[in-house]
Amino acid sequence: MRKSKKKVEPVRVRLKKNDLVEVITGREKGKTGKILKVVREKNQVLIEKVNMIKRHTRPSPTTGQGGIIEKEAPLQVSKVMLICPKCATATRFTLTLTGEGKKARKCRKCKELIDG
Ligand SMILES: [Zn+2]
Repeated sequence: MRKSKKKVEPVRVRLKKNDLVEVITGREKGKTGKILKVVREKNQVLIEKVNMIKRHTRPSPTTGQGGIIEKEAPLQVSKVMLICPKCATATRFTLTLTGEGKKARKCRKCKELIDG
């Protein structure tokens, strides 16, 4: 038997870039947005215009500008829910196999495939 290495067990992130999601808990609850990035190692997602943080920057010699910039901070995957593009509801979805043997996500509510 191998020695088990200590590492973060990644949950199965079924969300992808460009998915529309709704935040279901926390400060940003109720907000919706498009996923800009999925950080699988950390189980986090970056959502457009959600969970914005302000960062102060110094004037840089290259741009000559400084001040406050706003940027998205990542959210835990468990805090967001996929919105079904077909029935426009934040929903649970199941994995299913398509005719071509590909994995696709299926909305539990309207039974439509979310992918493809
Ligand atoms: Zn649906």
